Amino acid sequence: MAGIVVKGVERTLGAVVLHAWGRSTEGACPRCGEASGRVHGRYVRRLADCALGGTRTVLALTVRRFKCLNRACEAVTFAEQCRD
Ligand SMILES: [Zn+2]
Repeated sequence: MAGIVVKGVERTLGAVVLHAWGRSTEGACPRCGEASGRVHGRYVRRLADCALGGTRTVLALTVRRFKCLNRACEAVTFAEQCRD
């Protein structure tokens, strides 16, 4: 996996939010291993919530769900895995 990209920084009241998404354009199904680039949906995961220099910092990672294209596979959709 190619890790994540920070696409924007937002200052809210009392916190800094880093908006990030996965760098890869496709994911591999954890069940059958087949690669898929067909995005089924997205959701936001708040991963890190810590204080940097006294300011609360949140990492908001947009995670894509891919549709597994392998018809024999039981996994219909799967979430992308973001690793370094
Ligand atoms: Zn699969």
